[in-house]
Amino acid sequence: MTTLLDGKAFAARLRLRVAEAVTELTAAGGPVPGLAVVLVGEDAASQVYVRSKGRATREAGMASFEHRLPVDTPQSVLMALIARLNVDPTVHGILVQLPLPEQMDTAAVIAAIDPAKDVDGFHISNVGLLATGGRAMVPCTPLGCLMLLRGALGSLRGLDAVVLGRSNIVGKPMAQLLLAEDCTVTVAHSRTRNLADLCRRADILVAAVGRPGMVPGDWIKPGATVIDVGINRVSDGQGGSRLVGDVDFDTAASVAGAITPVPGGVGPMTIACLLANTVTAAARASDLPEPA
Ligand code: NDP
Repeated sequence: MTTLLDGKAFAARLRLRVAEAVTELTAAGGPVPGLAVVLVGEDAASQVYVRSKGRATREAGMASFEHRLPVDTPQSVLMALIARLNVDPTVHGILVQLPLPEQMDTAAVIAAIDPAKDVDGFHISNVGLLATGGRAMVPCTPLGCLMLLRGALGSLRGLDAVVLGRSNIVGKPMAQLLLAEDCTVTVAHSRTRNLADLCRRADILVAAVGRPGMVPGDWIKPGATVIDVGINRVSDGQGGSRLVGDVDFDTAASVAGAITPVPGGVGPMTIACLLANTVTAAARASDLPEPA
């Protein structure tokens, strides 16, 4: 029997726990956690993400601040805004929605965010802390994947994990998190040889590639736990479109022990983890215990 890892239900429970943590934090004399989201330009997908992040933040009892800048904003203006948010005591998390317009230097923008408020976990200080076992802000998507894995498997110790994809926002931090859980981790990418054989050895397979249905069922070890990070829009054959993952769900579901669907798997976890990171940042800012 394959278990469907229902990220939507898991994320709903996590969001409830976050709301409780907000109540506990304020009852202990801490601040109302505040999340500032900065959107530069009018990218349609980014606008949807920013709206849903704001809504989820408010629903969890936190303060939401949205800053929308025109697409032709000079980088200096964005940097000045980040500098203000860095010292604003009501803001505990800062998220600059990516991708940024072409005239912006994304690395410089991320580097300008106070690492303690970097709830995306992309600042090089947090990347370094994650790699060295320190108290990092952990990127939300891989953190959500880890929570789903722990929920499905309990301890991950000693398991063979293959991470497909080596991006800074998903693949690499995912690999670090799995290593910290005592997995034996292989990171694969577009130049990896014998990808199918490699995947077939994995007790845990995390696919973060951005290629619809790239991983068929016969690449999966029977009983493996499969986390599909991919979000790909494809034609539905009737003039519309639908979302699919990087894993061919229909063939994979009959082999895997547990698998995330797309949509409704990793996606909902990402925003829930953003909220959790913001509460953690607020607790740390006031030297109060971090939520469990
Ligand atoms: P990137 O494009 O930054 O990275 C893709 C990775 O996949 C690269 O490392 C690339 O290798 C590798 N890759 C590409 N083609 C192949 C191939 N044929 N064989 C093996 N490896 C390959 O993507 P992201 O990490 O940003 O995102 C990956 C997917 O996850 C996307 O579908 C994205 O939409 C989704 N996503 C979902 C989120 C969520 O909340 N659920 C959040 C973030 C992303 P190389 O380095 O060699 O180029």
